[in-house]
Amino acid sequence: MATQDRSELLRSLAAVVGEAWVVSDPAGLSVYQYDASDEAIAGIHQPVAAVLPATAEEVRDVVRVALAHGLPVVPRGAGTGLAGGAIACRGGVMIVMTRMTRILEVHEVDRYAIVEPGLINLDLSTAIAHRGYFFAPDPASQRACSIGGNVANNSGGPHCLKYGVTSNHILGLEVVLPDGSLTWVGGSSAETPGFDLTGALVGSEGTLGVVTKAMVRLTRTPEEVAVLLASFPTMESASRAVTAIIADGILPASLEMMDALTITAVEAAFHCGYPLDAAAVLLVELDGLRETVAEHREAVARLCRLHDAQQVRSATTKAEQDLLWLGRKAAFGTLGRLAPNYYLQDTVVPRTKLPSALEFVGQISRDFDIQIANVFHAGDGNLHPLMLFDRYRAGEIQRVLEAGDALLAHCIDAGGSVSGEHGIGMEKKDALSLVFTTDDLAAMAGLKRSFDPRELFNPDKVFPTAFSCGGFNLKQQALEVDGMYVV
Ligand SMILES: Cc1cc2nc3c(=O)[nH]c(=O)nc-3n(C[C@H](O)[C@H](O)[C@H](O)COP(=O)(O)OP(=O)(O)OC[C@H]3O[C@@H](n4cnc5c(N)ncnc54)[C@H](O)[C@@H]3O)c2cc1C
Repeated sequence: MATQDRSELLRSLAAVVGEAWVVSDPAGLSVYQYDASDEAIAGIHQPVAAVLPATAEEVRDVVRVALAHGLPVVPRGAGTGLAGGAIACRGGVMIVMTRMTRILEVHEVDRYAIVEPGLINLDLSTAIAHRGYFFAPDPASQRACSIGGNVANNSGGPHCLKYGVTSNHILGLEVVLPDGSLTWVGGSSAETPGFDLTGALVGSEGTLGVVTKAMVRLTRTPEEVAVLLASFPTMESASRAVTAIIADGILPASLEMMDALTITAVEAAFHCGYPLDAAAVLLVELDGLRETVAEHREAVARLCRLHDAQQVRSATTKAEQDLLWLGRKAAFGTLGRLAPNYYLQDTVVPRTKLPSALEFVGQISRDFDIQIANVFHAGDGNLHPLMLFDRYRAGEIQRVLEAGDALLAHCIDAGGSVSGEHGIGMEKKDALSLVFTTDDLAAMAGLKRSFDPRELFNPDKVFPTAFSCGGFNLKQQALEVDGMYVV
């Protein structure tokens, strides 16, 4: 960007938000050049400027400045995304939501709240706990990730087995659209007229608009919560127990699995009391009416034992429940004890295919000589194999990527999907052609164009493109349709 244009851009942005909230020096921008995906995969990309607005009107005006300069707009929440969604891979203006953290309205009778997009997920549940409500979507990153990021990625989390993903908890959204207008979609009534634009925006990863407020559903705090830990001699037996629990008609709030490698790392870090001699543990949370929880607790314990559980333990205090959950929610970070890097796949299989999918993960680990840790939402069939590696060892990243592709292809063949909850971003965009036909992709591209004809909103994300942030894919270039690259 020419120096004069850049100066003019920075002046205009400062006029909207104040000079203190425009970051443009390389050191300051280095904070915004990554998200939580591996930089070896997503690359390092600095925006021209990162802007931290305080209100929806400021977001709108920042978008207008960027559009007037013909620059891309990249929304960013907390930067915990694992698919490279909040990276400015074509430069432009990054709009960072970390100052917009207010809970604006809480309507207990109608069970919804209106919140700003930068609000940390857990802060919402904490703030409304005394009223007897919580916000159900709970990514393991909930201490850090933002509601806007949850909306954009349609995030899941342990509680999504029973309560559903983010889209089930968003009633309406205020958004800045790519024409620079500020508008609401959806609303608090059960049925809203017209197209379901809220449905289109949730999960669109910042490619259709910037969320400036979210109207979120509040869920009643259950009367009783039980947390059980069951340990198993094999991953297979743990997987069979998962299927048996659901087949029995019990719907736990969460049903999470961790393998031996993960248990070792978690125990070394947090001493949660996970048995070190187990090949797998299940963490089962049951919630609801006191009598039902008691009945289901017995049934789950019985089913786990029936499928060879070595030990089934129920947390007796809230502190013990929290400790069991701490291990699960902090598990990814503890793997740093085992290797400097990990590449996390996020894919889904039908629940009954879990044993064979996990067997395949083991096969991949042996074939590619990569240590793989598994910690995942077993009840949803949502696998998270974490491939451990050292990016400074020659050829490692390539090997890990090839192993990841093989895993993804296997899970899709088994009737699964390309992403369980982390989104597509930069990382998975070329894999979309494994699940969608050219016509499917063209229809999605048409929707994107109707919102964003200039393709300035979070470009090079989600859709397969010819330019992959520096990489150039000739196969896709040959299949360009109307300026969008579909395979
Ligand atoms: C340790 C760890 C555990 C995790 N566990 C889970 C899990 O259990 N389940 C799960 O689903 N995910 C999980 N994630 C992934 C990630 O935390 C979620 O996807 C989260 O929703 C991202 O929120 P964020 O605020 O960090 O978004 P960012 O990373 O900042 O952005 C993510 C995407 O949202 C867009 N975006 C952000 N804010 C807005 C906005 N206001 N308007 C429009 N677009 C916006 C960005 O452009 C980007 O495409 C985990 C990540 C980590 C690091």
